Amino acid sequence: FRGVIAIDGPSGSGKSSVSRRLATELGLRCLDTGSMYRAATLAVLRSGVGLTDAATILKVVEGATLEFGTTPNDRYSLVDGDNVDVEIRGPEVTAAVSAVSGVPEVRAILISMQRDIIAKANGIVVEGRDIGEVVAPDADLKVYLTADPNERARRRSMQAGADLAATAADLTRRDNADAKTTRPHDAAPGAVVLDTTHLDLDQVITALHELIAH
Ligand code: C5P
Repeated sequence: FRGVIAIDGPSGSGKSSVSRRLATELGLRCLDTGSMYRAATLAVLRSGVGLTDAATILKVVEGATLEFGTTPNDRYSLVDGDNVDVEIRGPEVTAAVSAVSGVPEVRAILISMQRDIIAKANGIVVEGRDIGEVVAPDADLKVYLTADPNERARRRSMQAGADLAATAADLTRRDNADAKTTRPHDAAPGAVVLDTTHLDLDQVITALHELIAH
């Protein structure tokens, strides 16, 4: 299999672990588009321009050099040559990312980078919010992963070692903010919906291998 697999879903649905594992098993590249929005957000935070003016945000993102590695177990994000993998997962970026990803011209820049990366890869798993609908509507397989909000919060708080109630509140806030630009609660046309609330990683991966084989 050397095609394009789109994996969309809200945070805590299992997208990242599923995408990485699937790409590894299939020998494909793997792109986490959430980390691209996070890297762009970090560039904006580092520049100190604030988050209120779309034109200023765009100027910073246009001026930043953003680079992304797509080897499944060796993914990296660089902002102006600096490895930012840890920082882009931190609370400051997480709190600010919806403001940056909500600027249409920023989306246009990142979507065009995403399409270039997909075109150059000889087969890739791409995870995000709008992959099956906007970035790669012709993907060979489109999957929409979802899970019950309590379960999503539980997974995220375990991953981050953070308080459950605070994580749940943060997920809801971000889902609502993101819903203005992407549709975190809706599957793309043609996507297979997989509710992972009661599934572990192995079960999700088995289900996806079956979908690819058919
Ligand atoms: O998936 P992750 O939590 O890393 O995504 C971070 C943020 O990036 C999301 O909350 C959303 O604002 C933005 N995003 C997006 N479109 C994508 C992927 C992520 O707008 N395809």
